[in-house]
Parts: sequence; structure tokens; C-alpha cells
Amino acid sequence: MNSIYNLSLADLENYFVNHQDKKFRGQQVFDWLYRKRVDHFEEMTNLKKEVIELLKQDFTLSTIKIVKQEADTDVKKFLFSLKDEEQIEAVLMNHNYGNSLCISTQVGCNMGCKFCESGRLKKIRNLETHEMVEQILMIEKEIGKRISHVVVMGIGEPFDNYDNLVKFIEIMNHPKGIALGSRHITVSTCGIVPKIIQFSTLPYQVNLAISLHAPNNDIRNQIMAINRAYPLELLIDTLKDYLKKTNRRVTFEYILLKDINDQEKHALELVKLVKGMNCYINLIPYNETNNISFQRSDYHTISKFYDILKKNKINATIRKEFGSKISAACGQLRSKKED
Ligand code: SAH
Repeated sequence: MNSIYNLSLADLENYFVNHQDKKFRGQQVFDWLYRKRVDHFEEMTNLKKEVIELLKQDFTLSTIKIVKQEADTDVKKFLFSLKDEEQIEAVLMNHNYGNSLCISTQVGCNMGCKFCESGRLKKIRNLETHEMVEQILMIEKEIGKRISHVVVMGIGEPFDNYDNLVKFIEIMNHPKGIALGSRHITVSTCGIVPKIIQFSTLPYQVNLAISLHAPNNDIRNQIMAINRAYPLELLIDTLKDYLKKTNRRVTFEYILLKDINDQEKHALELVKLVKGMNCYINLIPYNETNNISFQRSDYHTISKFYDILKKNKINATIRKEFGSKISAACGQLRSKKED
């Protein structure tokens, strides 16, 4: 059965029109789902009994369950069980500007980045739109607060599940529903070039982050398989077009891996690569995992790398660390379960 959380407002309106009802009914249901947050169709008290029966017959409401939580200072991690017993995770972080929820888009991931736990487990399936929407609804209910920012950076490659992702953004962003501002949504990709081009044509001002992690093809080929399909120069040219077209800024994520991409010469190469682009670089201390042998760069190396970027007038930050104690790095909670 289809989940009602797969439907945008326009889909709901069409549904009612196709059932010889008023378009306006769509708006009423959307309101019950996203403003009033009902758990049962019977709670939609301004609908006739027949309409409620129709909805019950055609749609499910909530399908995902929180099965485990781990908390640390300013961070909480949730493990969800899906209707087919697969598991995904989401991470909630408190910031001085609000809170952000990092959500998953797939069960596992096929991108095969060498340093990443999620990739080690391979993709089992895409998440449906409703499973992305429900991560937000469930957690807001659990914590009794609104989530101010959503980062699509959990398990999975969002651009490998493009259509469901775009529908998710449409539902989240709609002013009559959750109304999460598009500038409060960030999508992170390992660099699937055709989808970046497609993404630039969307009518939403969603932030784009690119998992760069290397300043040249040699290193990037070694750690990120996607680079063999879409090498660095193509990725950068595509992003320059994206910037021109959207007038926005891109974020580059750069994990510092000891002795692999963290030396002075790499920082200088990185400066050259992104010079002149409207971007900023998020330097990420690597979260070491038991299953993968990459090591985190020491703090001195990270701060030297950062200084070189700054000296060369590149916007950069060192990512505040959340939850390394609670296996909050991408895919780690789920993979703990699997081991
Ligand atoms: N597939 C998307 C989004 C999921 S990965 C992407 O590649 O952007 C989210 C981010 O976490 C990516 O930048 C990824 O490279 C990074 N990441 C993965 N494993 C990590 C680890 N062990 N420590 C720190 N960052 C990690």
C-alpha cells in the first residue's frame, strides 16, 4: 500500500479530484498530516466518514520506528527500523543557530568510498520519499521540538535516489506543510555530475555540498570510485556552471586522512582547484572506524591545513565534532548492528 507521506500537496489534490471530490480536500489532509500531525486517519475530524474510509483503504500513515537511541553532548543518534525490517539512522545535532537533523536516503550505499562505513555495506534499496519525511516527523515528535535545518548527509547517496529526494524536498518545503525553508536544507553528494546539472534547474534554493576529500584525481581515484566516472576537472567545471546559474554558494567537504590528503602541498593544490569559486570548505576530522584502516590527521596537521586555506583567502571551517563517542559517523550505528 502507498504511504500518504509520499504525496505532495498537488498529488493529494489530484487524488481527490480523481475521486470526484473537491481539490480543497487535499489541502485539508495535508494540514492534518503536517501541521496537526495526526497518527490516525480517524483524527481528521473535518472529513466525512466515507473520505476517511477511502484514505484508510488506499494509504498507510507511519511505517518507521525508532529502535535505538544514543546520546552525547549536543548530539543524539536514532536507529530506525523500516517496514521491511531494514535499518537506517538519523543524527540530531544542537547548534547555536538551532538544531539540524542529518537524514539517510538509502539502505546502504553503492558509491564505494573507501573511508566510509555506509559504502562497506552496499546498497540494499532506495528509501521511498515517505521514509525520508517520516525520519523528520518521528524525531520532532520524539523530542517535542521543531527541527530547524535538515542535512541530507546520512546513509546513502541522495543523487542515486534523485526522484524520491526531489519529492521529499517538495513536501518539506511547502509553505502549507512543514514549511522548512529551502535554505535550511542541504544536500550532500559525492559528485554525480548529471544530477548536479539537473539539481541546478530545480525551483528550490536548496544548499549543495560536495564530498571532495581530495585535491587531485590521483588521490580522489584511490579513495572515491565515483571519480573514475566523473573526474575532478569535470566536477569543478559543472560546479562553476551551477554557481553561475543559481547564484549560490557550494560547500566542499574535505575529510582529513592522515598522510593521504592532509599535507601542505595538498592544501596548496586545493587552493588552486577552488580559487575564484563562491564556496567554502568544511574540513572534517575523520571518524575512525574499526573496519577501515584510514586514520585521523592530528590536530596540528588539521590546523596547519586550515591556516593555508585562510592565508589564501579561501573560506574554511573545521567541522565541530559531534558524536565521535557514539558512533555518529555515517553508517556507524547501523554497521555496529550488522557486525
Ligand atoms: N553520499 C553523500 C552523503 C552521505 S556521506 C556524500 O558523499 O556526500 C556524508 C559525509 O560524511 C560525506 O562527506 C562523507 O564523505 C562523510 N564521511 C563518511 N564516512 C566518514 C567518516 N568515517 N568520518 C568523517 N566523515 C565521513
